[in-house]
Amino acid sequence: MKIYNTFSGRKEEFTPGGDTVKMYVCGVTPYSECHIGHAMSYILFDVIRRYLEFCGYRVKYVQNFTDVDDKIIARASQSGLSTSELAEGFIAQYFLDMAALNVKRADVYPRATEEIPKIIEVIAGLVEKGHAYQAGGDVYFRVRSFPRYGKLSHRDLSDMTAEACRVEKGGNEKEHAMDFALWKTAKPGEPQWESPWGPGRPGWHIECSAMSLKYLGETVDIHGGGQDLIFPHHENEIAQSEAFTGVSPFARYWLHNGLMQLGEEKMSKSLGNLITVKEALERYSADAIRLFVLSSHYRSPLTYTEDGLEAAHRGAVRLRLAAHRKGGNGPPAPQAAIYRQRFTQAMDDDFNTAQAIAALFDLASEINRAADEGHSIKDAQRELMELARVLGLALEPKKFRKDVGGGVVAMASQLGINMEKDELQRDVSNIIGQLVEKRAEHRKRREWALADKIRAQLAELGIVLEDTPGRTIWRYGR
Ligand SMILES: [Zn+2]
Repeated sequence: MKIYNTFSGRKEEFTPGGDTVKMYVCGVTPYSECHIGHAMSYILFDVIRRYLEFCGYRVKYVQNFTDVDDKIIARASQSGLSTSELAEGFIAQYFLDMAALNVKRADVYPRATEEIPKIIEVIAGLVEKGHAYQAGGDVYFRVRSFPRYGKLSHRDLSDMTAEACRVEKGGNEKEHAMDFALWKTAKPGEPQWESPWGPGRPGWHIECSAMSLKYLGETVDIHGGGQDLIFPHHENEIAQSEAFTGVSPFARYWLHNGLMQLGEEKMSKSLGNLITVKEALERYSADAIRLFVLSSHYRSPLTYTEDGLEAAHRGAVRLRLAAHRKGGNGPPAPQAAIYRQRFTQAMDDDFNTAQAIAALFDLASEINRAADEGHSIKDAQRELMELARVLGLALEPKKFRKDVGGGVVAMASQLGINMEKDELQRDVSNIIGQLVEKRAEHRKRREWALADKIRAQLAELGIVLEDTPGRTIWRYGR
């Protein structure tokens, strides 16, 4: 398996340090709802984790919550909540969103506010070794004490001075513009903890170093996050961690995902162009959202478009139908095994999910062709489901049937559509097709009220009708 390592700037053979792959992914700052750009990152790392598990590795996955931070403090004071009440609410929402997107839970979700002793221990160690210094009540990391600073983001310290002034505004007297805060003096009314440097709170970067060291040890196998975290966040994490432990590397493989864009711009809170996970899930299934995210390479930027999600929705339906249709009694579908090979080859090449998905679609076509010819397709379908699960696709048929089955059967009998009882049980799609047909007949007879009633009743069940020239298509809206 080859993985692109941001640190070396090339694809490298993946060799973890032990039996268990240690994985750390930077988590959210819970001060607002999770948007689809966050979801993209967690879906991607979820798939990487699932694929490692599929390959037989055990994975220990740690992801933090930055639950104390300037943005949380500002938002809490606006809304009249305490910082912990505010963070707690958005953390709960985060878990709901991720569960709805079928993202597996991390093994540990450490929170900054619950890891203060470890954070203080690391800062004190850095001060003792001369890698950090106190200035007023603040403590800064001394970047000039760490010669490898800039290696991850491929920058030279001497070029960074001007840029740094924008990153770190003002503060106490720092020795160098690039020095960054490990501990910040608390202002009155802010959350604060006792420390050797007076009451205060941790800076953002130090928490990830402390948590990673505490839960995964001195070296992790994979450290991940969005490309916007490479500098300064991950650069600072390396400096803090390696300076503290004296062990290099802090992370064997640095993985960074491209960012979600809306039109030409990065999707971000400050630009106000966010689509929340909740909004996306009101319109599309988790399978559709995941297929959309995974349809491009994880290192590339991805542009959110309705067309893209519609296409992903149709793809998800195609896979689901192939996974659950009825086959014949003939000999098994030939050649199903080659798709597993294509899938793993694609995933082994730096998690090329787009090609892995192409293999799934071809397998689905093969299943349909084989079923039409009367082959038995059970093994091929099992294969499709297993590979789909690696991508976190549920391809769940029951929900659809459970959600709408009873409703459409009731509508059909009200409207006097005659069907065998057995048929009613089996084929929900067929019944919906007949209801759509019935509506078309009403429209032909200009019985608009009756036609609209069918449309409205179907809409209540989550089935949306779209009239195109020539025919009406329906889709299950969730
Ligand atoms: Zn982090």
